[in-house]
Amino acid sequence: MQEKPRVGVLGAGALGLVSAYRLLRRGLPVTVIERETVLGGLAAGFPVGDTYLDRFYHHLFRSDRQAIALIDELGLGANLHWLRPKTSILHSGRTYQLDSPLSVLRFSPLSLWERLRMGMVIALLKVAPSEKYFEGATADAWLARYMGRRPHEVVWRPQLRAKFGERYPEISMAWMWARIHDRTTQLGYPSGGFQTMYDRLGQEIARLGGEIRLGETVAGIEEEPDGRIRVRTNRHEQRFAQVLSTLPTRVTLQLTSTLPEEFRRSYEWGEAYGAHCVILSLERQLLRDGTYWLSVAEPGYPFMAVVEHTNLMPAGDYGGRRLVYLGNYLPMNHPLFRTPDEQIVADYLPHLKRLNPDFAPDWLRESWVFKAPYAQPIVTREFAAHIAPHRTPLRNLWLASMFHVYPHDRGQNYSIALANKVAARMAAEAPAGESRAAAGATP
Ligand SMILES: Cc1cc2nc3c(=O)[nH]c(=O)nc-3n(C[C@H](O)[C@H](O)[C@H](O)COP(=O)(O)OP(=O)(O)OC[C@H]3O[C@@H](n4cnc5c(N)ncnc54)[C@H](O)[C@@H]3O)c2cc1C
Repeated sequence: MQEKPRVGVLGAGALGLVSAYRLLRRGLPVTVIERETVLGGLAAGFPVGDTYLDRFYHHLFRSDRQAIALIDELGLGANLHWLRPKTSILHSGRTYQLDSPLSVLRFSPLSLWERLRMGMVIALLKVAPSEKYFEGATADAWLARYMGRRPHEVVWRPQLRAKFGERYPEISMAWMWARIHDRTTQLGYPSGGFQTMYDRLGQEIARLGGEIRLGETVAGIEEEPDGRIRVRTNRHEQRFAQVLSTLPTRVTLQLTSTLPEEFRRSYEWGEAYGAHCVILSLERQLLRDGTYWLSVAEPGYPFMAVVEHTNLMPAGDYGGRRLVYLGNYLPMNHPLFRTPDEQIVADYLPHLKRLNPDFAPDWLRESWVFKAPYAQPIVTREFAAHIAPHRTPLRNLWLASMFHVYPHDRGQNYSIALANKVAARMAAEAPAGESRAAAGATP
């Protein structure tokens, strides 16, 4: 067993990698432990042609300031492209663009008054400065009341239901406020996908003397009598001066054997859906009106979103492939997670003809299926009361995960912002003698 007084960072997604990078820049030696064999967590990519494509559809909003700043800091700013793609909704078999005040005014399934009212309420949510005005309400009840019954039934409820299934009536309006408030019509995407950012972070971590151990699963965490934290994985056991776990809070607490029961009762909480994504490489464009993001707001489809990535980025970047994501969030024990990939693709293909009558199965060149647990926290009204403090009763075990970014929806920007904050605190509060965060170390 090694005895070096390092900081252990569990998880090599956005939160873990940025935390490790910041801690190293503050002079603390860091080891990152990740069960996957690639960096990037939910935002990791995979090779397509001679570039990378995200396993799950990703983009940035103009409001994602911390992510944009990090990309610049890593010298990748020139690769980040800002685009204005179309976002649409599928309603009664037709696709309607719905991503700007003008498109709301043109949304013919609603009466003119209903469109005006919906537009006014969206404008109000955009300017409302804080989630605190919405905290006691569910999104379902609030939207029905203020947007009006029809706009809610046509636009909002189907999307809530598509994302959260039977849990949709419980979702907090504070979360919905943040989604509407934070989003912009301009979207940013880096050439080569977000994997480029995570690979660059990995290089920087190595350059600063950090260690990244991939393909290693954390199986146990415990406090030693001297306050150090022992982490057991499927391959090693190591004692750390401090540990930051970026795993979902519930998972970290389940792995930690020496926590007070009271803490566990309050914070071993927080449910999430898993993400399931089929990616198709097609001969031709699927959504011919150029829609990048299509919310499937009607029953009868086996997926909730169709994201035609090459209606955002040029197909030429991917050797001419037309790339389409068909996405779902589902309970982690849902049978779809166990269904063979080929069967899922075969089941999905007939539905594409409903989106484009010319579609033929022989357009399909390649397909991939990606699955991930803990991909979408179920943000109910009780959620905020169960967000664990970053510093646990084990004084050298820290928690920060996507369960801490409330009221914001998960997003790389919020993981990066949280990493910046928590790493600064950890460095400032490092046990005496462990920190080399002395003069000259940079944040
Ligand atoms: C379908 C989908 C679409 C999305 N769209 C966007 C978008 O458009 N824009 C955007 O910014 N964000 C988007 N997100 C959210 C974004 O991916 C996440 O917010 C962000 O990647 C979270 O980073 P993280 O480091 O907090 O968590 P994660 O990426 O989940 O990182 C946690 C890491 O811990 C590892 N881990 C778990 N258990 C163990 C263990 N026992 N031992 C070792 N390692 C372990 C995991 O493998 C993972 O790498 C999307 C997510 C999904 C699923």
